[in-house]
Amino acid sequence: MAGGPTVRALGEFGLLRRLRAKAPPLPPEVLVGMGDDAAIMQPSPGLALVATVDVLVEGKDFRWEWCPAEAVGHKGLTVSLSDVGAMGAIPKYALVTLGLPARTPVKRVDGLYRGIWGAAEAAGVAVVGGDLSEAPRLILGVTVIGEGEAHHLVRRSGAKAGETIWVTGHLGRAAAGLCALKAGYRVERSAVKGRRGTHIPPKTRKALRETMQAQLYPSARYREGRVLAETGIATAMIDLSDGLASDLTRLAEESGVGARIFADRIPVDPSTRQVAELVGRDPLRLALGGGEDFELLFTSGAPSATIEEALVRKGFARPHAVGEIRPADEGLTLVGPRGRREPLGRGFEHFR
Ligand SMILES: [Mg+2]
Repeated sequence: MAGGPTVRALGEFGLLRRLRAKAPPLPPEVLVGMGDDAAIMQPSPGLALVATVDVLVEGKDFRWEWCPAEAVGHKGLTVSLSDVGAMGAIPKYALVTLGLPARTPVKRVDGLYRGIWGAAEAAGVAVVGGDLSEAPRLILGVTVIGEGEAHHLVRRSGAKAGETIWVTGHLGRAAAGLCALKAGYRVERSAVKGRRGTHIPPKTRKALRETMQAQLYPSARYREGRVLAETGIATAMIDLSDGLASDLTRLAEESGVGARIFADRIPVDPSTRQVAELVGRDPLRLALGGGEDFELLFTSGAPSATIEEALVRKGFARPHAVGEIRPADEGLTLVGPRGRREPLGRGFEHFR
């Protein structure tokens, strides 16, 4: 654990003063930020509010063993940005709930907030308040509030049989990165390290770095989500936090449909394949069940060229068509390369 003074030495009020002094300036639409009983924001005229909260728990969602405090902060905000993005809304404000043991070094709290503020700034999000409390282990809950035209916002429930299922980027990367971290690989200031004496071939080094970075510092696709919503392309949308299998199951349930995914169309990049091989895992399983890629999964009846052009024209990656929405009675199936079908199954689920 990092040295220096602990949270106990500073106390709640000392810590709050410290955070307020370091906090970035707020935009004019935030009339009152940190320091009052509640924040006051002036909403944009005519726009609906979209709100979400997600929580990271030490030992469950991350381990200090391989997670720098900055990465925990970054991810804490990113998971909620991703949820707002999956509605097609513009993320605007964040509130941070932080529970932590009194023995936590102040440096660690500084790192957490560096991660939160860094990710917030990159997304144009203002951190307008929060709460601090003592807890047996670190818990970071980030609420993100966004805005969007009510008629553009995209739910999970709009998918219809015959539509195509798309994902915005490569899958399985974050899961491969997690496997690498569990196997003892580390990435520090973009340098890759293995267990003592482990030789890492240069080619694998890049793959390890990319996948571990994807696990530690994920990106949320809220900008892409906005395009897919504004253009009316997406009929249903969800972010891939728990894995393609699990998240598609949720979308299908909400829409009252079935789905068919083609294994050979699931985008898995070479880095993910290399790391999967290194740690002895099936890359397809990582892509289906791993989660935390925070790509968007959406459905659409629009022609492929229209969808690809809408994203590529705005500078985003070309999306991948991975399957099709089917009638509910067909259930959810995975079609293998030789046409063999199996139930899609589920990815990660809490409490199980
Ligand atoms: Mg979500």
